[in-house]
Amino acid sequence: MFVEAIVLQLSPLASTMRTIYHNIGSMQTMNDIDSLSKGKAIAVKDNKIENIMDSIDEFESSDAQFIDVDGRSIVPGFIDGHSHLLWAGDRFNEHNLRMQGKSYAEIAEMGGGIMETVRQTRKVGAEELYSIGENRLKNALRYGTTFLEAKTGYGLSTEHELRLLSVVEQLKSVQNLPSIHSTWMGAHAVTPEHTYDSYTDEILSDQLPRVLESNLADSADVFCEPGWFSVEQSEDILRASRKGGLRLRMHVDEFSDGGGGELAAELRVRTADHAHHTSMDTRMKMKDAGVMTGFLPGTPYCNGDDWPNFAEIHNHDIPFSMATDFNPNCHISSIPFIGSLAVQRNGMSPFDALACVTRQAAKSTPRSDGLEQGVIKPGAVANFNILNSKHWESWCMSPASSPVHSICLEGTHIEF
Ligand SMILES: [Zn+2]
Repeated sequence: MFVEAIVLQLSPLASTMRTIYHNIGSMQTMNDIDSLSKGKAIAVKDNKIENIMDSIDEFESSDAQFIDVDGRSIVPGFIDGHSHLLWAGDRFNEHNLRMQGKSYAEIAEMGGGIMETVRQTRKVGAEELYSIGENRLKNALRYGTTFLEAKTGYGLSTEHELRLLSVVEQLKSVQNLPSIHSTWMGAHAVTPEHTYDSYTDEILSDQLPRVLESNLADSADVFCEPGWFSVEQSEDILRASRKGGLRLRMHVDEFSDGGGGELAAELRVRTADHAHHTSMDTRMKMKDAGVMTGFLPGTPYCNGDDWPNFAEIHNHDIPFSMATDFNPNCHISSIPFIGSLAVQRNGMSPFDALACVTRQAAKSTPRSDGLEQGVIKPGAVANFNILNSKHWESWCMSPASSPVHSICLEGTHIEF
């Protein structure tokens, strides 16, 4: 059950004061140099990190607010760079079909899959969607997520996609919840009255222009996969989105090596996610083009599929991030659980896995205010997790419970 967070309320006057976190056991800053900081204290001013110090002597007689973390460790706030945040209903019944050997595509053909979620999502009112989203954000926060990418994609018409975007916009303004990067993903699937061709035409002539006009989206994403949006359709939608000022993201090669990774490299999109079946040749092209690969280990975990060979990809110095891929088939809000899959099931080091959900994720999912995130250093946004353990490695070692004791979220202290 979610336990309501206790927010240390600061008065408007006090909010301009310093907060000093001290008595830190160990701290992984994720800075390039000296990442494992010996610093024992962090000074926070407004929503930014002001300094990292060994001693708090200089502030002893000031009116700063002091928070003794009692020897606990600290890591940057987690960034969930791939989340299908907003949808209604559930599809737990589909597990039986998967057990019988039915594929994602076969379940979709039977009327299940995304279309079932689209039907449920269209049925509920905006207020209910808002409350669904708010609860999911609270849950993510409990697991240390301080910034989250939220995709639409369960509306699949101009009207319903815009409705989802406006609910995300409302959620953006709520205090003491993870901040949001909003992604329009109208090109997620098609409804039965459309073909992929006719829906692509509608997106280009109506939905995308209306989305651009609304100014509600930071990025555009396309599900580029054989049987879904083709490479050509994806290219048309992405080029038009870029022209309209949106950043580009893609879902590629989740089920087969279908050319999505190639297109990602050609268009130099910010991140190409899933990418489980992308060839090594294409991975190198993506790397050369500056495209981040976004691995989503929770999806194969939930579906019983294999993981890609992370060690081989790591050995080729291919940059990648990791995220939850929270969706109706993958009820994972916990970044530490994703870390556990990487570290305790796939041989990744706690440091490399942490980089994937902090500074690497920050590259694919930037803040709109331009503040640096995913690192603990002066000038960066004051987002960090105080863990239960004195050892920072604990962030990914408790898969069934949250390792997070309390959070500094945009400079506000939150206890659970
Ligand atoms: Zn996804």
